[in-house]
Amino acid sequence: MSKCLICKELVVAHFGWTEFLGLGKVKLICAECEAKFEKIVGARCNGCGRECPDSVCPDCKRWENTEYKGVLKYNRSIFHYNSFMKEVLALYKFRGDAVLANIFKDELKKIYSAHFQNLLVVPIPLSEKRLYERGFNQSLLLAQQLDVEIVEGLAKHETGKQSKKGRSDRMAGENHFYVAQPDVIRDKNIVLLDDIYTTGTTSRMAAIRLKDAGAKEISSLTLVRS
Ligand SMILES: [Zn+2]
Ligand SMILES: [Zn+2]
Repeated sequence: MSKCLICKELVVAHFGWTEFLGLGKVKLICAECEAKFEKIVGARCNGCGRECPDSVCPDCKRWENTEYKGVLKYNRSIFHYNSFMKEVLALYKFRGDAVLANIFKDELKKIYSAHFQNLLVVPIPLSEKRLYERGFNQSLLLAQQLDVEIVEGLAKHETGKQSKKGRSDRMAGENHFYVAQPDVIRDKNIVLLDDIYTTGTTSRMAAIRLKDAGAKEISSLTLVRS
């Protein structure tokens, strides 16, 4: 008998032949919690992967009119950002339940082999200060669930005070990412790994750094599309 990693209720295993033969997997979360996650299904935006009746959503069209045009090949995500996912991500990131990364292993592997096979996996980094505070990088832990080679090719400067800048600079925000391993990422096709795609700014800022350093195509895999 084990406890659900999310709600801590006992997980009642359905005992059948697979378990009897030792083929069954240990359930990490209970059926009630599992049912509260909402997967992205149906028609998607070709760009950001959100559920969308059009092939390209308005957000992605907007990106194509900026300096980031073509920087990110596409993003694919597994889950919607519903209120339950919001809670789970808070447990994971802010309360430091690093073990929660494991509950997404199967789904991460599935989406990786469907859309990102043979790409170099680069997790979105945290700044050193944030990493110290949190104790782990949530994106790296998610990447590790794939059981493939990972390169921590990017790093992040401390987010300092905003300096005086023009309006357009302020809107895009400062790009704090830098390439930590230029030799490894050069000429590679890369998939960025992150927990959530919200506006798409993070993925693009990371991608543009990699492109400037000689990487070829950059796409992103995020657990959640908000
Ligand atoms: Zn549960
Ligand atoms: Zn889109």
